[in-house]
Amino acid sequence: PQPVLAVVGRPNVGKSTLVNRILGRREAVVQDTPGVTRDRVAYDALWSGRKFTVVDTGGWEPDASGLQASVAKQAELAMQTADTVLVVVDASVGATATDEAVAKVLRRSKRPVLLVANKVDDDRLLGDVASLWSLGLGEPHPVSGLHGRGSGDLLDAILEAL
Ligand code: GDP
Ligand code: MG
Repeated sequence: PQPVLAVVGRPNVGKSTLVNRILGRREAVVQDTPGVTRDRVAYDALWSGRKFTVVDTGGWEPDASGLQASVAKQAELAMQTADTVLVVVDASVGATATDEAVAKVLRRSKRPVLLVANKVDDDRLLGDVASLWSLGLGEPHPVSGLHGRGSGDLLDAILEAL
């Protein structure tokens, strides 16, 4: 079986956009309205001759326990089932309480976790990226899922971690 990469994070940070960038094709559903991707969807990816599975998460309806608990639950599930977890944060917003809740779950992970600072479309946001070290998940990788900036370096880091 091929290694599994799970992509987690709160709604609207750009998980599905990044999944499409990783796949090199538009397959994951991107929506301007938060919470549209079906619960968990797996795709076959290929980079530098290596095959792996990418699991896009999100789109679940926040249940009675609220958004933060729902996102944390997805992170927990990803941590238990994936070989590597990609945590996506919106660098244009910075770390929110929900991001902190996800990070708290994943800091216990025995498997590699990669922190992605998404929506870094140009240099202006680079200065803010360093503040994401505070999540305790190591180095934030600046990318723009939309424009592709930084995605090659991220994919190299993913292959190294998988
Ligand atoms: P998800 O809910 O985390 O899966 O987020 P989506 O991938 O559906 O994206 C949510 C919104 O953010 C959409 O309007 C995307 O076009 C936008 N978005 C995603 N990635 C980027 C990015 O790198 N830069 C900018 N500016 N917008 C992005
Ligand atoms: Mg999505």
